[in-house]
Amino acid sequence: MPKTRVGVFVCHCGNNIGGVVRVPEVVEYARTLPNVACVEDNLYTCSEEGLSSIREQIAEHGLNRVVVASCTPRTHEPLFREACEQAGLNKYLFEFVNIREHCSWVHMHDPAMATQKAKELVRMGVAKARFLEPQEEFESSVFPAALVIGGGVAGMTAALGLANQGIQVHLVERDQELGGLIREVRTLFPAGQATEEVLQPLAEQVRNHRQITVHLGSEVEDVGGFIGDFDVAVKADGQVNNLKVGAVIVATGAEELKPTGLYRYSELGNVVTQLEFEERFKRGADVPRDVVIINCVGARIPERTYCGRFCCTTAIKNAIWIKEREPEASVFVLHRDVMAYGVQIEESYRRAMELGVRFLRYDPENPPQILGDGRAEAVRVQHQLMGKEIVLPAELVVLTTPLVARDDNPRLSKMLKVPLGGEGFFLEAHLKLRPIEFSTDGVYVCGSARYPANIPESVSQAYASAAKASIPIREGVVRAEAITALCDERTCSACGNCVEVCPFGAVELQEGRFGRTAQVNPAQCKGCGCCVAACPSGAMQQSGFNDRQLLSMIGALAEEMTGGVGE
Ligand SMILES: Cc1cc2nc3c(=O)[nH]c(=O)nc-3n(C[C@H](O)[C@H](O)[C@H](O)COP(=O)(O)OP(=O)(O)OC[C@H]3O[C@@H](n4cnc5c(N)ncnc54)[C@H](O)[C@@H]3O)c2cc1C
Repeated sequence: MPKTRVGVFVCHCGNNIGGVVRVPEVVEYARTLPNVACVEDNLYTCSEEGLSSIREQIAEHGLNRVVVASCTPRTHEPLFREACEQAGLNKYLFEFVNIREHCSWVHMHDPAMATQKAKELVRMGVAKARFLEPQEEFESSVFPAALVIGGGVAGMTAALGLANQGIQVHLVERDQELGGLIREVRTLFPAGQATEEVLQPLAEQVRNHRQITVHLGSEVEDVGGFIGDFDVAVKADGQVNNLKVGAVIVATGAEELKPTGLYRYSELGNVVTQLEFEERFKRGADVPRDVVIINCVGARIPERTYCGRFCCTTAIKNAIWIKEREPEASVFVLHRDVMAYGVQIEESYRRAMELGVRFLRYDPENPPQILGDGRAEAVRVQHQLMGKEIVLPAELVVLTTPLVARDDNPRLSKMLKVPLGGEGFFLEAHLKLRPIEFSTDGVYVCGSARYPANIPESVSQAYASAAKASIPIREGVVRAEAITALCDERTCSACGNCVEVCPFGAVELQEGRFGRTAQVNPAQCKGCGCCVAACPSGAMQQSGFNDRQLLSMIGALAEEMTGGVGE
């Protein structure tokens, strides 16, 4: 066995770490640690200079373990691992120590404490690094087809994004027609064009594309497998069609909230939602003369705290539509505040006011009241500026409600092993770092299934998800992180705890050389460690975080406290 030779690179991250942690002190301390063959002090270890230095030191000092003490592994670990690989070192012989978030940021008012903690973390990192082992990544091939669930604007755009790259796409739509929610919408903000002008060409392209198979009136019944190799059962007219795909895009959209119990909706025929308003006038109903629109109905309340995002814009669009057809109409928009984001939408807001649409703020504690017997005839509201109640005539009351998550999202989320957020929408892996992706590889999301999104937003998310999904398909192979769970079949008692707790469905009990034991599918395992924690016999171990490595860190921490020698 070659002697363990650890290189430690301590980063200032400019002032981010160096402004608080006394980096030279940490560097000197690291030199005293067992097996440390070289230590460097870098202004930015992630710069080209810093990375070349890692490569050079590996060669010069014969390093066989590398520890970088710097910022966050989430963004920088791949970079440092790559530098190790370029120098011929297995990338799993690299250990990251985060002295920014864990030291300089949380202890920014106490440099001594931050420095002391940085030393302790480096000591623990070095202790663990001594027991790191080279790992091999699991490689599997990718079936060259994709599944898109939902044929609204987002789903159709995603399908085209993939198909135009030559990828075979199965588009599964529950309805008998493509188009989704906007099929019911008359005209579209911000440009004001008729919906058909946008929808028809899009649906036409999808229907005629050689690479796209559209499954109308169909639902996904079951999904098994993992990135590159999903088995999908699609049901239509009682018949099940089995498909194989390499990636899945969820584009199932959302529904408009029907505000039963609010503002006498469903009691009075002339109190309608925005979507019902759109449908009514799409069918050619007469334009009403006195209209009151009430915004934020069922949104931004304790049971539904989020903002509908484009509800105000829909209200503005429909208010303008009425005024353009019936300039004498009285149109009031009662709001809690107006969210008209973006230049074009801000202009629409201004235009609505120029056309004579009146915007009045109401107090959610004292909301507007619908007056009338059998029909809404007027709306009473407290005028905040005048400080008195006013009564507005109403031939029609339009309630602006938010989009809500579909009822069957939980079923789909379970099938695909992807999470939902508190409001029931699909929850991406990370809002900023991994939007439109899930922690389950090979599954992506776009459009209103993710969160209420207007068409431009749905389209850009759809292109993003298509681009992401096309990467493994075009590469033809996927490599799974080697930080996965492993079962020691000799000590496994087949209790099944691991199978139960695995959020990714990666563990199964199977017959093997030692009888029935747990088996981990490395392509599905995300290395979360749940099975390791749940295993009563210690048979489950996680590469990169096995007992020996973790105990060595604990030993190194205890060493300082006890004055003993940690392992
Ligand atoms: C009243 C109103 C007016 C609007 N006006 C505008 C506007 O003027 N401009 C604008 O930019 N945006 C507007 N929007 C927003 C617009 O509707 C959304 O941006 C758009 O619908 C999002 O598209 P999507 O494909 O994500 O979802 P959706 O349009 O909801 O499409 C989802 C599709 O998935 C299908 N589906 C659902 N579950 C399944 C399943 N399990 N299996 C198979 N298929 C499934 C559904 O049948 C549907 O066809 C408006 C919304 C409302 C409510």
